[in-house]
Amino acid sequence: MVQSDGHSANGSAGHEVREHDILIIGAGGAGLRAAIAATEQGLSVGVLTKSLLGKAHTVMAEGGIAASLGNVDPDDGWRAHFMDTMKSGKFINNWRMAEIFAKEAPDRVYELEQWGALFNRTPEGKISQRPFGAHTYRRLCHVGDRTGLEMIRTLQEKVLATDTKVYMETTVVKLFKNAGRVVGALACTRETGKFIHLKAKAVVMATGGWGRIFKVTSNSWEGTGDGVVLAYDAGAELVDMEMVQFHPTGMVWPPGVRGLLVTEGVRGEGGLLKNAKGERYMKNYDEERMELSSRDVVARANYTEVMEGRGSPHGGVYLDITHLGYDGIMKKLPTMHEQFLKLADIDISKEPMEVFPTIHYTMGGIKIDPETCATNVPGLYAAGEVAGGLHGANRLGGNSLSDLLVFGRRAGESAAEYVKGNGHSSEVEASEVEAEKRRVLAPLERKEDGENPYTIQRELQEAMMEHANLMRNEDSLKEGLGKVLALKDRLPNVKTPGSRLFNPGWHTSQDIYHLIQISEIIIRTALERKERRGAQWRLDYDGPDEELGKLNLIVKKDDQGEVGIEKREIPPIPVHLAQLFKEGAKV
Ligand SMILES: Cc1cc2nc3c(=O)[nH]c(=O)nc-3n(C[C@H](O)[C@H](O)[C@H](O)COP(=O)(O)OP(=O)(O)OC[C@H]3O[C@@H](n4cnc5c(N)ncnc54)[C@H](O)[C@@H]3O)c2cc1C
Repeated sequence: MVQSDGHSANGSAGHEVREHDILIIGAGGAGLRAAIAATEQGLSVGVLTKSLLGKAHTVMAEGGIAASLGNVDPDDGWRAHFMDTMKSGKFINNWRMAEIFAKEAPDRVYELEQWGALFNRTPEGKISQRPFGAHTYRRLCHVGDRTGLEMIRTLQEKVLATDTKVYMETTVVKLFKNAGRVVGALACTRETGKFIHLKAKAVVMATGGWGRIFKVTSNSWEGTGDGVVLAYDAGAELVDMEMVQFHPTGMVWPPGVRGLLVTEGVRGEGGLLKNAKGERYMKNYDEERMELSSRDVVARANYTEVMEGRGSPHGGVYLDITHLGYDGIMKKLPTMHEQFLKLADIDISKEPMEVFPTIHYTMGGIKIDPETCATNVPGLYAAGEVAGGLHGANRLGGNSLSDLLVFGRRAGESAAEYVKGNGHSSEVEASEVEAEKRRVLAPLERKEDGENPYTIQRELQEAMMEHANLMRNEDSLKEGLGKVLALKDRLPNVKTPGSRLFNPGWHTSQDIYHLIQISEIIIRTALERKERRGAQWRLDYDGPDEELGKLNLIVKKDDQGEVGIEKREIPPIPVHLAQLFKEGAKV
């Protein structure tokens, strides 16, 4: 095995070479958990992040992490969590992933606690658990509304205690293969624009989601879906790509913060949704669960109230948590209080918030084996939001953070097993590395007039907002596809002035390649799924389609380099699990 920091050679070829056993692309919860698992196997690990360590999306997670500890509701157990996850995903989830997830989530939370995470407590001193939409029991372990911060802090400290090499502000632009296996990547640093060829025997993709394809989103600038396109270009299969989650509650005012998340924790703590007439309209959409219905249902309800003229002055609905009072809010939802006071001049202990759906999460992603997180491309593993399958057509709040830990660990362990069992070379042809560098540098070197990458990004985000929103129909999707393909044609002309030093425009010229490719895939799969199911709500169809409910849409790059879509039957759910839905939740 090579040493942790590998050997480096500043080269006349204009790039540095580093070598690790395992490369982990992404330093969010999934990537860091994978790194911990891989280093425990004694291997050298390199972790890359586009931003700084501790700044991934995971740090933004607010509401909590779902695991059936049964601390507050003793009747809870993995079976109930499994069933909630499958029901919410409208049964196109990978049932084996959901089973593993529900069974292992409690251990991962306790492990986090042992590593130092300080959760809120029940009066008896157990980890406190709050209610969340469509979870049958109070299940979300939380640290106020700053759960992600505590999670990333804990994982980061653990990683820093190992020999793991972290490459900050370093963006992967290409995966390399040798004899069909993934054997490393080309990356580029933000600060200097220096290229690094990272050789590795296995790669774990943990790059998170792609909310930035839309104009109004809760996601940060990092959410450009690089990993899913890097994997797709390397031959990986993708699953459920049409499924994009609109969170019911994003800020609407002032315009500069439109889309910023208002955590589901607000509804979990008893927040009431009301329209301009003061009606608790959720009774018209899900009388039983009201505000704690699943995200897809609440998002459509909020959208419908506004579209039908019952919205607030700034085009939202009202979310009222005033009954909790100042002290209660500061204990349970301090970030929300600060966010509204600082950004909107609203004291949420005295006034309701105005909210509207915002793009939040991507259920689809790289298709992985549930046991090992291996993709169909040897040497490539994936975990976290970039991977698909667990959440099906709609993710339950809180299920992402536990997903990161359960499958991040499995991905790290499996990649380590693979590396130990394979003595293959991680070399690639020098000409391949050079060709990739030329491709990445092209926008800087273009002499003739060219396209501004920000213009393309903005036009794409507007097109996706208009045509692939939370309500879709064939004509509009087709129009949207036309716009996306026209933008794709403009990509080769992108030009970015300036040098390689700290040049965000140049990095955006890479991002838009990913954003456009994902958008095309989302629209093409949304056109294929002709039904209403979870996040895929086709207005030109009346409801779910029984036959489509037995299928996943699998995407793979075809021989012509185009988007190939296969309708693949979902393996039948085994009797012992199917039986649960007949018996009702048993712990
Ligand atoms: C505001 C907000 C609140 C949320 N609240 C909750 C919650 O309460 N509970 C819950 O379960 N979920 C929540 N979620 C969802 C959850 O936070 C994310 O799904 C999850 O954190 C994703 O983790 P990840 O490890 O897969 O990726 P991320 O945390 O997104 O990390 C991705 C990493 O990949 C890196 N990266 C990306 N592209 C490249 C590249 N080309 N080269 C190198 N590095 C790259 C990034 O820099 C980053 O380090 C929330 C999300 C948001 C946005």
